[in-house]
Amino acid sequence: MTPFIDVPSHDVLAFLAAHGAKASRLKFIYDHLFRRLTRDWDEMQELPAALRGALAETYALHPLRLDRKDVSALDGTIRYFFRAGDGKEVSAVYLPEPGRVSLCLSSQVGCAYACAFCASGLVNFQRQLSAAEIVDQVLLIAIDQNRCPTNLLFMGMGEPLANFDEVVKAVRWLAELPGLNLGPSRISLSTSGLVPQIRRLVDEKVRLRLAISLHAASDEVRRQIMPVSGRYGVRELVDAARQYSETLKSAVMFEYILLDGVNDDPAEAAKLAGLLAGFDNRVNLIPYNPIAGLPYRRPSPERILAFQRRLTESGLVAFVRKPKGLDIGSACGQLGAAV
Ligand code: SAH
Repeated sequence: MTPFIDVPSHDVLAFLAAHGAKASRLKFIYDHLFRRLTRDWDEMQELPAALRGALAETYALHPLRLDRKDVSALDGTIRYFFRAGDGKEVSAVYLPEPGRVSLCLSSQVGCAYACAFCASGLVNFQRQLSAAEIVDQVLLIAIDQNRCPTNLLFMGMGEPLANFDEVVKAVRWLAELPGLNLGPSRISLSTSGLVPQIRRLVDEKVRLRLAISLHAASDEVRRQIMPVSGRYGVRELVDAARQYSETLKSAVMFEYILLDGVNDDPAEAAKLAGLLAGFDNRVNLIPYNPIAGLPYRRPSPERILAFQRRLTESGLVAFVRKPKGLDIGSACGQLGAAV
């Protein structure tokens, strides 16, 4: 069944006309879906029953179905599990913090990029999510929580820029949806570093907060942990990020996972500072979150601090990201198969 969110408004207008309904019903339905956060066609009691029935037979109001959720006992993070029409599982994470609510969204089922430290890379790529399925993660969580998010993160399962068209469509919808009041500065997208697609973001003027999973300062180290780096070198990647930042006047964030004994040597921090010199953007250090079956370890707190200090001494702004929902497998990199 066609997801309603995916249907252009002129087609909905034609459908309404064919069923003898007024054009003003369109705004009413959008209002229900995006502002009143309606679950089901049946809740739109003000519509004539025959029209409601016809809509329900033709369009799925929500392409995903809420399957279950796990709540973290540590910090209130919630991992949502949805089911798509074809039975595929889709995960998203609800991250409540004082003064803000972020949602971490998935863009694909599985992931083809196979980063050595990431659980999503252990799940074979299965398929792209449609823009409607991406937007629906936001709507269904907003319905369940009875509140709208303040920030969206394209940092869940999948490589968002490998699903370019649907992700960009979803970003544009989400930035404009009437009920959400989000705008481009509240939408972050993290990429493993697909250089041509970063350039496409520039060409198509897709404004958002871009995050680059850099994770190493040299091609030599990066190749050990990220197969994608065989295609694009770190210099080329940083140049593309710089072009994005300068052309769209939008800050870029660099993510750097800290893996004990792999990329956490202070000498690597110095290299990183050299690579990012003169580039006024911040670095987010992500201490490794454990994944069953993987050989990596998180560095000691002293070593993490030493790495951070080395970056700040070189004039970079560097933060250490706190893991969220570690007990329910919802921290960065943990969205693999259901736990
Ligand atoms: N594919 C995109 C989106 C994933 S975002 C990307 O690669 O950027 C998730 C972030 O968490 C990325 O920076 C990713 O590299 C990082 N990550 C993956 N596995 C991790 C782990 N085990 N511990 C900490 N961070 C991890």
